[in-house]
This record gives sequence, structure tokens and C-alpha cells, in this order.
Amino acid sequence: MLGLYLHIPFCAAICNYCNFNRGLFDGDLKTRYVRALIAEIGRAGKAAGAGGASADTIYFGGGTPSLLTGEEVAAIIGACRDAFNVTPDAEITLEANPETVTSETLSALRDAGVNRLSFGVQSFRDEELRRLTRLHGVERAKAAYRDARSAGFHNVSLDLMMWLPGQQVDHWLESVDEAIALAPDHLSLYMLEVYPNSPLREDMARLAWSQAPDDDVAAMYTASMERLEAVGYQQYEISNVSRPGRMSRHNLKYWTDGDWFGFGCGAHSTIDGVRWKNVSATEEYVARLGARQSPAGELRRLSRDERLGDALFTALRLTEGADIAGINARYDVDAWSRFGEDLQRFVEFGLLEVTEDRWRLTRPGMLLAHEVMTVFV
Ligand code: SF4
Repeated sequence: MLGLYLHIPFCAAICNYCNFNRGLFDGDLKTRYVRALIAEIGRAGKAAGAGGASADTIYFGGGTPSLLTGEEVAAIIGACRDAFNVTPDAEITLEANPETVTSETLSALRDAGVNRLSFGVQSFRDEELRRLTRLHGVERAKAAYRDARSAGFHNVSLDLMMWLPGQQVDHWLESVDEAIALAPDHLSLYMLEVYPNSPLREDMARLAWSQAPDDDVAAMYTASMERLEAVGYQQYEISNVSRPGRMSRHNLKYWTDGDWFGFGCGAHSTIDGVRWKNVSATEEYVARLGARQSPAGELRRLSRDERLGDALFTALRLTEGADIAGINARYDVDAWSRFGEDLQRFVEFGLLEVTEDRWRLTRPGMLLAHEVMTVFV
């Protein structure tokens, strides 16, 4: 089963920390972009053969996909259904920013076929939201969440960010508690990365905002996971927790060696060990589709070693870890003889647990996942 990712690169304003592929909203460009996106989906469907391959997840990511109208979203989902055999119970997610939605637009998204919303809340403290130059405040985020429930969304996720400038452990846990009080089905908890040359880095230098020390960020991560587990959420991935059965089916494809098409500017695709990325610039993407050209850059067939490394790298993000027996069989290797020497020190430090069938990161290991993963890259 395929996943279909749709990139919507428009935002009402550009946040000071953001390094995603996005630009400022432009109504005319958006109209042309949606047309191009539909054309690209149609091309891929034809290439996949008549009747199309089957897909069971669709994911609108961005940017700010909630800047699309219900009609545009319906047209894009319709194009996916025309080009692929989209299963009746497909998970159809749309990322939404709280300030962009109303009861009416949420109902329109529901009517268009979206059945899962992922709200970019980031914090339940107004001061932190201001530091991130987000357009919404805490009350707007809560109202958007309630409106989504009223519009009939039974599967709602919230994104929160820790390690924000000036944030202390108890500030972070305040946001986690506010999220728990809303009772979402799913939560993603990310650590802020402050990129070089980002306006946020300049603001931090100018206004003397600093990030908490490493020990505090470890405490933030661990305490929030424990608090969420205590009220019935299950951590299933380094940064993701859900109610039982409410894991992100789409994102699981990325972590379980799955296949997906990425449509839109800058989107990545991986199908059967072949990987490609579309041109990043929105205008160029639209122009290519307008000229009936492929928006894809160079296609790269991954070597077996690269596929093995990727499979391990991504599976270790999951709390259940990597099914080593399965991976050994799939890639006809003995992964421990290949990587064991480099991994042994992580086992000794209690960051990685290794049995005959499974390798999994411990919670302290998840905090240092990057170090462990470099073994596979
Ligand atoms: S809304 Fe999201 S994608 Fe848009 S600028 Fe802010 S962080 Fe980046």
C-alpha cells in the first residue's frame, strides 16, 4: 500500500525558525499550483498503470495546507482517487494552522474527505508563541481544536515544540498538561532546532534569549513522555505518541521501509528502492507541469546497502525497534556482523537494547538517536 504526500508550500507569514520549503501566500500562484499538483498526480497514476496502484494514506503537508479551500482539497483528493486505487478507509490527514480555520472551513475540509487533522500548536504559552512569531495565540489554538471536534473530526493530532528560547522545564510541562486537557488522539513533540542564519537566531542574540541546558531538555523529553503515558498515550516513535490505534498510518510508512509518492514542489518519493525529489521552487514546479514536463530531479536507485542502512535508521525511530530477523531476511545479511562493532558502545552505555530478533533504542537512547543513527549513514 502506497502513501501519497501532497506538499502545499504557502504560508500566511514566515515563522522566524522555519527552514521548510515554503513561501508567502499568493492567491494566483496557489490556483496555478493546485492545477499543477492535480496534473502531477494524474501523470503518476498513468505511470503506475491503468487502475493505479493502491494507496491507503493521503497527507497534506506544508507550508500551511489549511490555506486551501475545501473545494481545492476535494479536487486534489479526487485526483488521487482517479489516479490510484485509494482504499475506502484511507487515512487522509491535513496539517492546519489554528489561525487559518473557522467552523465553516473545517466543515468544508471534512466534507472534502479529510478525516485527520494535525494542528501546528507548538506551545500553550502566548509568550513562547510570540517568540516564535506564530500568528496564533493559545485561545485561538484551543478554539480551533474545539471547532474541529464539532466539525466531526474524530482523529486530531497536535504538534508541540520543546527547547524553545527562554523555556524552562515547568513551562514545557504546562504546555503538555494543556494538551492533555484537550485530549487529542495524537501528539508530536519536537525539539526546536535553531538554524544558522535563521531570524530566530538573530532575535535570540539581540534579545539575550537562550535555550535550556542539555540536562534540562533531557528532563523535558523524559518527563513529558512519562506524563503522557500515565494518562493513556503510548509513545510509538521518538517524537510521537498516540491513543491506542491512533498512530499516524502515513508517517509509519516512512519508518517501516514503505513506499510513497510525494507530489508538489520539493516533495520526495520512494518507490521500490528508487528515490527522487521534485524541483523545490514553486514557480518552476508549476512551469514544468504547464509544459507537460516531469517536475522530478534525478532518479536514484538505492544500492542494497543504502536500503539496509535506511531500513535500520528509520526502524530504530520506533519504540518497538527494528525487526532484525525480518531485516536480515529481507536484505540477506547478518546486520550485527555488519554494524555490531560500531553499535557495541551504545549497548554498553544503555542506549541500545539488542536481542536476537530486535534492536531498540532505550528512552535515553532516543535522546541521542542522532549519534546512534550515524552508524548507518
Ligand atoms: S507555518 Fe509552518 S511552514 Fe509556515 S513558516 Fe511557519 S513553521 Fe514554516
